[in-house]
Amino acid sequence: MTRASTPVHRPFEEPLLRLEEAVARLLEGVAPLPAEEATLAEAAGRVLAAEVVAEVALPPWDNVAMDGFAVRARDVASATAAAPVRLRVAGEVAAGHEPSAAVEPGTALRVSTGAPLPPGADAVVAVEETSAWGGARAAAGAVLESVVEIREAVPGGANVRPRGGDVAAGARVLAAGDRLTAGAISLVAAVGRERVAVVRRPRVAVLATGDELVPPGTPLGPAQIHDSNTAGLVVLAGRAGAEVRSLGIAPDDLDAVRERLREALGWADIVVASGGVSVGAHDVVKDAFETFGRLGFWRVAIQPGKPLAFGRAPRGPGAPPGGPVLFFGLPGNPVSSQVTFELFVRPAIRRLGGHPETGRRLERAVLAEGVEKSHGRRAFLRVRLAEVEGRLVARLAGAQGSHVLSALAAADALAVIPEEQDTLPPGSEVDVWRIEEA
Ligand code: AMP
Ligand code: MG
Repeated sequence: MTRASTPVHRPFEEPLLRLEEAVARLLEGVAPLPAEEATLAEAAGRVLAAEVVAEVALPPWDNVAMDGFAVRARDVASATAAAPVRLRVAGEVAAGHEPSAAVEPGTALRVSTGAPLPPGADAVVAVEETSAWGGARAAAGAVLESVVEIREAVPGGANVRPRGGDVAAGARVLAAGDRLTAGAISLVAAVGRERVAVVRRPRVAVLATGDELVPPGTPLGPAQIHDSNTAGLVVLAGRAGAEVRSLGIAPDDLDAVRERLREALGWADIVVASGGVSVGAHDVVKDAFETFGRLGFWRVAIQPGKPLAFGRAPRGPGAPPGGPVLFFGLPGNPVSSQVTFELFVRPAIRRLGGHPETGRRLERAVLAEGVEKSHGRRAFLRVRLAEVEGRLVARLAGAQGSHVLSALAAADALAVIPEEQDTLPPGSEVDVWRIEEA
C-alpha cells in the first residue's frame, strides 16, 4: 500500500503497533535493578542476585525419620509378627537432645522423629511395628518398659534420613536469578542464612489525573467522580512485585502534573499516570512528562487501550541507583487502565525485578458465547472462568465497554481474541490470560 506524502504529522495515520513489538520496544535495554540485602521475609517472591551455598549439610547429621526404636538392622533381621525379636531398651533420644547411650548388640533406644540417630544404630523400627513387653506400666500411663518386641525386620538405613541426603555441605542450593518461592525461602533458612542478596524491588509511583476526580471517601460534587484507577493500579503494581507509592490526584493542569512527576522521578523506577494522555485540549500529561524525558505516543493494536504514552527520563535527585525511569501514560478509562497496566507495565516491573519471564502463561478455554470485535486489533475480553466437565469455559463477565467496572470486578481472566478474527461463534477455543488467582 502506498501512502500520500504529507508534511503534516498525523499520529492516527501511523500504522498500529503489534502488542509484542510495543512490549519489546519498551523493554529494550531494561535490565534488573541493582542488588540489595534483604531478610527472608522481605525476599519472598523476589529474585536472587547471588547464589546461596549451604554451609551446613541437610540434614546436618543422621536424623531419625519416625517415632520408634533405633536398632542394629542385623539384630532384627529375623523379626516377624509370629516370631518377634526382643531387645533391651537402653534409654531414649528425643528431638533436640544428644544420645546419652549407644545402641549395643541386643539393645534398642526409643527415639522420636527429628532426633539424632544414636551411635551403633543403623535403622529405626516404627513404633507401630513394636510393642512394649515385660515391663511395668506406671499408673499415670508412662511406659517404664525395659524390653521392646520388634515385629518387623528392617533393612539398614530404614527410617533414617542420612546426613547430607538432601543437600551436601558446600553445595550450591540456589543460583542467581532463581525466584524465592516459599520452598526456596525455607531452603535458605534451613542452611542457616537469615539474609540474602536479591534484586531490588521496583518502585512504582501511581498518579491519577483529571479535574473531575476526587478520592474515595469524599462526597461527589457536581461533575465529579471518584478516582478508581489509583486503588486498582496500586494493587496490580504491588502484586507484580513493586513497592508502590500513590501520588494522589493531579488536576488537568500542566504545572500541577509536572510537579507531581518531578516528585515521582526523585523516588520511583516506574511512574504510572492514568488519564490525560489523549489528544484533548486538557490532556497535559504528555507535555508535562516531556519536561523531563523523551516520550513516545503509541497506538497499539489492542482493544481496549487508547493510545499509550511511554517514555524514559533520567532519575531525579534522591532516587536510588538504576537505569532511566520508565514512564507510562495509561488511558483514563478504568478498564483500559488496568488492562494496559497488565499488558505493558507489569512486564516492565517483572524485568526490573529480575524475573526471567515477563509475561503470563496463557491457558486455553472455550467461549461460552459468541463474540464480535473490531478487525485488526487483539481484543482482551473480561471473562470469568469455570471448569465445566473437565474443560475450562470462559463466560463474558459483563458488558465490555472500557468504563464498565462491574464487569472488570466480576472477571478473573482476559480472553484473548486474535487481530484477524472479527467474530467467534460460541464454543470457539481461545487463549485466556488469568488476571486474578483465588
Ligand atoms: P482521559 O483518559 O483523561 O480522557 O479519561 C477517560 C475517561 O476515564 C474519562 O471518562 C475520565 O473521567 C475517566 N477517568 C480518568 N481517570 C480516572 C480515574 N483515576 N478514575 C476513574 N475514572 C477516570
Ligand atoms: Mg481526563
